[in-house]
Amino acid sequence: MVYNAIPASAHIVLDTAIEACAPWSARIRKGQSLRIIDSHGQQAVDTLFYNAVDPAERYSGQDTIRAQGSLYIGKGTALMSNEGRVMLHVTADSCGLHDTCAGACSCESNTVRFGHQTKYSHACRENFLTEGAKYGLSKRDIVPNLNFFMNVPIDPDGKCTVVDGVSKPGDYVEMLAEMDVLCLISNCPQIHNPCNGFFPTPIRAVVFEERDGTPQTGVVTKRE
Ligand SMILES: [Zn+2]
Repeated sequence: MVYNAIPASAHIVLDTAIEACAPWSARIRKGQSLRIIDSHGQQAVDTLFYNAVDPAERYSGQDTIRAQGSLYIGKGTALMSNEGRVMLHVTADSCGLHDTCAGACSCESNTVRFGHQTKYSHACRENFLTEGAKYGLSKRDIVPNLNFFMNVPIDPDGKCTVVDGVSKPGDYVEMLAEMDVLCLISNCPQIHNPCNGFFPTPIRAVVFEERDGTPQTGVVTKRE
């Protein structure tokens, strides 16, 4: 078990358990940190970020990959917007494998990949649409997302496959907001491939900030 410690000196803005298969959202102010905790391990967390003031500016996988020169997200990664600006920096990561390429599951893609009988399985795209609607977002705003804790090896020939996750119970990833952002999460309900170990489980999201406004980095002490 990885200790999901928030520094004792931090002010916790919100701390939410996100049910298996459920959507979640929050506005995160510049200078605040978001920690996403894979409470039970092997749980894909589909995530999108928008500029909280102007949601036409949003996370861009292409710009993030190009800026990093890497297909994967880890500590130090700058999550870029479609306008080439840094939205958040990844400041801590106990897992080490986060996907930028495989996108979100949908009823339509389930049908293609796993057969027509899976068309009515709950999917991430529905979660994004349901949660995004609270902020006036619609289908046109749901862009390719990033997948925390999802293991998607990519072969030299470009072929990618979703395989068993490597995250352990309590693994976490942490980001510092470099602008005010809206975060949408789909705690992936997929049961037809191994991205959730075929058994979706709850996760936890914590937003916190230093009382004096100092940016957060890493883990200091255990605090439940
Ligand atoms: Zn999904």
